[in-house]
Amino acid sequence: MTVATHCPYCALQCATWLHPVPREPGAAQAVGVRRSVPVTIEPRALSNEQGPTNRGGLCQKGWTAAEVLTAGDRLTRPLVRDAGGELRETTWDAALDLVADRIRALQVANGNESVAVFGGGGLTNEKAYALGKFARVALRTPNVDYNGRFCMSSAAAATNRAFGIDRGLPFPLADLGGAASILLVGSNLAETMPPAVQHLAGARGAGGLVVVDPRRTPTAELTDGAGIHLQATPGTDLALVLALTHVVLHEGLADTAYLAERVDDPNALYRSTAAWWPERAERTTGVPAAAIRAAARTLAAAAPARGGAGCFVLTGRGAEQHSKGTDTVTACINLALALGLPGRLGSGYGCITGQGNGQGGREHGQKADQLPGYRRIDDPAARAAVAAVWGVRPHELPGPGRSAVELLDSLGTPSGPRALLVHGSNLIVSAPNLRHVRDRLAALDLLVVADVVPSETALLADVVLPVTQWAEEDGTMTTLEGRVVRRRRATEPPGEARSDLEVFAGLAARLRPSLTGAFPVDPKAVYDELRRASAGGVADYAGISWERLDAGEALFWPCPAEGHPGTPRLFADGFPTPDGRARVVEVDHRPVADDVRADAPLYLVTGRLLQHYQSGAQTMRVPELAEAAPEVFAELHPRVAAALGVGDGGRVRLRTARGTLDADVRVTSAIRPDTVFVPFHYAEVNALTNDALDPVSRMPEFKACAVEVTRVPAERGADGAHRSAGDGRAA
Ligand code: SF4
Repeated sequence: MTVATHCPYCALQCATWLHPVPREPGAAQAVGVRRSVPVTIEPRALSNEQGPTNRGGLCQKGWTAAEVLTAGDRLTRPLVRDAGGELRETTWDAALDLVADRIRALQVANGNESVAVFGGGGLTNEKAYALGKFARVALRTPNVDYNGRFCMSSAAAATNRAFGIDRGLPFPLADLGGAASILLVGSNLAETMPPAVQHLAGARGAGGLVVVDPRRTPTAELTDGAGIHLQATPGTDLALVLALTHVVLHEGLADTAYLAERVDDPNALYRSTAAWWPERAERTTGVPAAAIRAAARTLAAAAPARGGAGCFVLTGRGAEQHSKGTDTVTACINLALALGLPGRLGSGYGCITGQGNGQGGREHGQKADQLPGYRRIDDPAARAAVAAVWGVRPHELPGPGRSAVELLDSLGTPSGPRALLVHGSNLIVSAPNLRHVRDRLAALDLLVVADVVPSETALLADVVLPVTQWAEEDGTMTTLEGRVVRRRRATEPPGEARSDLEVFAGLAARLRPSLTGAFPVDPKAVYDELRRASAGGVADYAGISWERLDAGEALFWPCPAEGHPGTPRLFADGFPTPDGRARVVEVDHRPVADDVRADAPLYLVTGRLLQHYQSGAQTMRVPELAEAAPEVFAELHPRVAAALGVGDGGRVRLRTARGTLDADVRVTSAIRPDTVFVPFHYAEVNALTNDALDPVSRMPEFKACAVEVTRVPAERGADGAHRSAGDGRAA
């Protein structure tokens, strides 16, 4: 039977049909051999009422997603490392008994905090919720966080402090279509979410698309002919946006009536931007002052206060993954406030969430400081409300734990966790300064990884648990717009793979027999419990039932009751702050934490490719995608390449304060001469990146650090491919 569901990858959650492929009766399947795909994928166009995010489009990743279901090395049985260091197949009972026994012994000897859990922004809402509950109720540990800390946390922190709420887009994506101008800061939408580009058409047509990026990406190329590309020096987006706001304020382009009515301290906008006149910003950012003025005027002309059709300010990871990411997003929000955009129909500020359930994954309790419903774990009322749903006393719930980088940094140390359970994250590829992370994982007494394939992290584990993935399970995801969508099962999981929900239930019952039955394995039962636990919270799902979703309703949170229509657009009548006004936070530019210097004179920036998703654990196993983008490369400006004496296909060594990587060269004038770009989907790239943290969001500075680039004499191997020391791996 054809099944309506959504793509497994990014937060656009493109709607798809899955058509099961009939199997030959009795067809045997050899172990380790790729099976034919069990489903075929067809894009599904949603009506305007249903939320037309992809308008019937899919990107290459979405079209080929079924291949991951039948990856030749798909995990189908639990694995336990034996005395000789080999991972050996075992039964589920044996694996879960072993994990529970080891956890129990560690907690008796070292306390509950000696066990930690690490989640992922790709987990369904049900799994993310159950993971947070498992950590707090079954393990009684505060040490739980997730890889979303590496993605959207700076935008979340900035919007929480400005608006009192964090929903990536506080409006439907389709609202972008009517705008005459859109400012994209650090987002390469054309490669990360290609179907979303159609929503930029109105702004492109009006000449109002403004893209801030140190590279001339496919998204920046959308400004060709009409529009503006501001090719800022890496790590200077904050100064650039302060200058844009300076122009808006000093040329009389601000929406003064909006500022007087809806903002707590308009004068703070003037104070924080007064010193950032365009000529000064040009010296910091490398963007000509004339281009800064032109961009500010373009945005202002589209703002409602000046009779424009609408204007949006949007941020992506390029702006956010910095040690000042929260302040950069704050500057973008301040610009939007100066223009009078948030809460106006057809205008606003938004963050383009990346991971598939990056929105829902940050709402239901897998963050160190949070309980379901986007409640704070240090809020007594929130603790009481959630404890009542979980059947425990509020004081039994642990307090806030360590954030992701700090948690990883503490593993195996005298005061840190001795065991780690990982669900939905390949952190040995995706964490910054990853050689340090590898050392910390090696120092653990117990590493348990639940995954669908033997990822780089799973291969280091003591116990590997094979779990189900998208087309094999039911559940819900929350899109970048805050809309809840249904994931539906279309095929059987292979071998003995089980849902993460069954892992939590099995371990909870072993650890605390009184919890037998307290962790449902039916995703609908888990979701209904999530609705109760979120009721009254910021992200209130109480009224969003599976029945309503299955009936085709497009429901955005908050939705506090069954009869409630949901909330597609926030802030129309005010902001959820104590006085109903948006808060202006004064911010200022500061340099990259690991800034360029004589022995590392270029900036290293990392980013995504069209073909791959996150750590590549899934997309590297899709032959079409792996063949199109098989290995890491470094983009160099022609001047840099000439100075090094390398050309296309040559080989360079990238050295930062943390690690070294060899990569093939791609020469392109689309990059700044002071910048080197490397896609981050490949193992060892994050050996180079910096784990300096944003003081508010605890986001590491993935996006900019100093790098030395040297030429590596290349040799050709027997297969004709280039070889050098390390062969593309860290030397
Ligand atoms: S990866 Fe994102 S943009 Fe591509 S098909 Fe999937 S949901 Fe759509």
